[in-house]
Amino acid sequence: MRIIQIAAETAPIAKVGGMGDVIPGLSYELTQEGHDVEIILPKYQFIDKKIFSSFRLSGQTILCKEGRKKYKNRIYHCRLQGLKITLIDPEKDYFHRPNIYGYKDDTARFCYFAKAALEYLLARGRPIDVLHMHDWHTAVIAPLYRNMFDDRGLRIKGLMLTIHNLAYQGIAATWDLDRLGLKGKSYLKDHLLQDGTNPRDINLLKGAINLCDAVTVVSPTYSKEILEKKNSCGLKKTLLRNHYKLTGIINGLDSLFWDPKKDLNLAINYSNDSSISAILEAKAACKRLLFPDKSKSPLIGCISRLVPQKGPKLIKSAIIHSLKKKAQFALLGSSPIKSIEDEFAQLKKHLENNPNAILNFEFNDHFSHLLYGACDFIIVPSYFEPCGLTQMIAMRYGAIPIVRKTGGLADTVFDIDDPAVPNSKKNGFVFSQYTAQGINKALDRAINIYTRHPSKYKKMVKTAMLQDFSWKASTQKYVEQYQKIIRQKP
Ligand code: ADP
Repeated sequence: MRIIQIAAETAPIAKVGGMGDVIPGLSYELTQEGHDVEIILPKYQFIDKKIFSSFRLSGQTILCKEGRKKYKNRIYHCRLQGLKITLIDPEKDYFHRPNIYGYKDDTARFCYFAKAALEYLLARGRPIDVLHMHDWHTAVIAPLYRNMFDDRGLRIKGLMLTIHNLAYQGIAATWDLDRLGLKGKSYLKDHLLQDGTNPRDINLLKGAINLCDAVTVVSPTYSKEILEKKNSCGLKKTLLRNHYKLTGIINGLDSLFWDPKKDLNLAINYSNDSSISAILEAKAACKRLLFPDKSKSPLIGCISRLVPQKGPKLIKSAIIHSLKKKAQFALLGSSPIKSIEDEFAQLKKHLENNPNAILNFEFNDHFSHLLYGACDFIIVPSYFEPCGLTQMIAMRYGAIPIVRKTGGLADTVFDIDDPAVPNSKKNGFVFSQYTAQGINKALDRAINIYTRHPSKYKKMVKTAMLQDFSWKASTQKYVEQYQKIIRQKP
């Protein structure tokens, strides 16, 4: 199959969250299976061409009309770890900026990118089996294709949308569609792009749900949760109407990037082939890099964006509770929200002289790798979690996850004390209540097993490390969906 992945992020070139990891992970596995995959991404100013094994400016300049004017776009063809990547570089000043998101004109920027990408594909002239878009940033492709590019001769058999997080929908003025050459107001209909809360605005994600052939979300549990009003982010009716298209497929983990056997950030490398004592020795060596006074107490960690979704209040409570219970705690978290940032800064001040706590407020990939290696437990107390990579990475590094039972966390972590779970699957601690008490009780159980039942703890570490979170199984499920939508078309 010829498959186009089109997105705002692709790790390690341009990544903010989990979506950035999905694009290369899935594309790599699809390529391994013999599919022809091309990733299309904006050429952000910060992309360093040295990262690619080949980087070539195409002779072809693509024109893309916005408003009354046609703008030029340069096209770069690059290779990265065997992946084919095309970068679109508009002459318009949309991506010559330091960050991926966070600008007033974000909807206009990404709508323009989506249209320019379709212009490029049309000029290329090769038929496409599946065009796979990700989140609201590229969702405008659905109305653009159905009402403009199909007529202009772009051949695509199936349109697929993956929603990585339903909370972000891309609400825009009809003007954003007008500028692309679509009649914005004519899309103000419930079965098209009309936003439920602001009926004079368009909702890009909703439009793609309505107009795509297949929609996936990033875990089976999340695919059920979002059908309930309280989790549907205002899209319950739309999702129910399109229920027949909806599937939940758990993300895989990039096993090259997250590999304790080769990870250069660790004090000593280890793997699930190592003996449990070698694993624990290696983890203790990592721990000593963080807490040089060798300690026998469990190290609990949290690596997270500090935003409401991730349960900042529960994280705070877990830090205080863990320290009270004589455990150590390491937090690596960054927050775009001032009030949350201030709250954690205050806690850090309060814990200034506590030798058992590290609170680090930055985005630091290297440090995150060391933490996964060093920690005995990793908490993920999310209010909602479409898939979650943190718990999977933690398990790969032999850190037992302590998670709230929601979304992808519920699909990947199975509680040690749950009689309904077979022993071979018991890999963590799960709590349901979204309260400080909920997480504190789970922490108590975890600390108790670590200190009083070491053989049980060791067995959990081995079980967790043996879980298979590779992209192979998930890719198979995506291929099934691709084949399904292709079969529906002549
Ligand atoms: P989301 O995409 O909602 O942030 P995921 O669990 O899907 O959550 O993915 C989070 C990814 O970002 C993981 O790879 C995690 O290790 C990483 N991460 C989160 N916060 C930080 C941070 N402050 N520094 C480094 N990596 C981080």
